[in-house]
Amino acid sequence: MKRIYLDYAATTPVHPEVQKAILPFFDEHYGNPASLHFHGQKAREAIENARRSIAQTLGAKPEELIFTSGGTESNNTAIKGVGWAKKDKGNHIITSAIEHHAVLEPCHFLERNGFSVTVLPVDKYGLVDPDDIKKAITDKTIIVSIMHANNEIGTIEPIEEISRVCKEKGVYLHTDAVQSFGSLDTDVNILGVDLLSISAHKIYGPKGVGVLYIRKGTKIAPLIHGGGQESGKRASTQNTPGIVGLAKAVEMAISERDWRVNKYKEMRDRLIEGIIKNVDEVQLNGHPQKRLPNNCHFTVRHVEGEAVLLKLDSIGIEVATGSACSSGSLEASHVLLAIGVSLVDAQGSLRISVGRQTEKEEIDYVLEHLPRVVNDLRYISPLSRKAK
Ligand SMILES: *Cc1c(COP(=O)(O)O)cnc(C)c1O
Repeated sequence: MKRIYLDYAATTPVHPEVQKAILPFFDEHYGNPASLHFHGQKAREAIENARRSIAQTLGAKPEELIFTSGGTESNNTAIKGVGWAKKDKGNHIITSAIEHHAVLEPCHFLERNGFSVTVLPVDKYGLVDPDDIKKAITDKTIIVSIMHANNEIGTIEPIEEISRVCKEKGVYLHTDAVQSFGSLDTDVNILGVDLLSISAHKIYGPKGVGVLYIRKGTKIAPLIHGGGQESGKRASTQNTPGIVGLAKAVEMAISERDWRVNKYKEMRDRLIEGIIKNVDEVQLNGHPQKRLPNNCHFTVRHVEGEAVLLKLDSIGIEVATGSACSSGSLEASHVLLAIGVSLVDAQGSLRISVGRQTEKEEIDYVLEHLPRVVNDLRYISPLSRKAK
């Protein structure tokens, strides 16, 4: 059976150019970048080239980047790292109700360790109000963490406006740009952020590698202590193949950006229009315009999202309910609850995210089968009125 992958927000396949770039770093250039001999210096050079090229893309300086094991570690380092480093100055952190767990959980961990956390609400589209941030900042606030774009509903947050508020008050601003990188502008000076997280596997790079941008002068403590790698901010021998792959993925994201974004939008809009037209009682979640070009998210009433997912999977279509991290648990998505979706309706959520390989025929296959799948399930679902 041909499989149609429409879960690019969960992860992406490694780009062929990225695979090609990585391979020599397993056998040919296997040196430890800390070693002074030839093989070591080859690896070091590759890492520093990667750092320079990614920095340039972000409008940053190479020394402002540290390589990590992915988006989760970058977020943890930003929040806990600033938390520990600034503990004497203040203990208050501001974030939003729709952040990824990789932001919310470090915040809650700090909360259990003497910090105080304000979790701001969002509107029905998932937007944070910069005014709410202004009101929430106290003289104890050390960092604000608001994502650039949401991984479930795709909403793009007003980071530039939030940055103006943070600058005015002298508070660090961190943004999780894991979903937005490659689709939106992520120049750190235009966004006005002090810390920014990226993950390779969401942009056609390998899993287990990411980067954290840390603006020069930002006080941050390391989470991982050991050798002095990454200018003492992240010990452990660098993942050379991963870092080379990340840099290549970033390079490809920039060079393919226009056609990717155009393609995403075309596929996304075809899906959204088709689903709204052909499936009863569905609602598009997230902002109608301020949304990621590759994200569709629907509440499908009177049906369980998991049931739809499994039925679609059985005919070769791979989508998500909520986020990959929370599927498998019956807990309703915190993002949907935050935008005011009811507990019952939140059970019927469906995220369809398109990618660089998505074809029109694949979208049409989904549009051909989804209405019937939903109707069949509604017929037998206890959530459905049709069953009564
Ligand atoms: C995937 C994702 C993460 C986690 O990144 P990993 O590299 O998988 O640890 C963090 N934030 C957002 C918004 C994501 O989509």
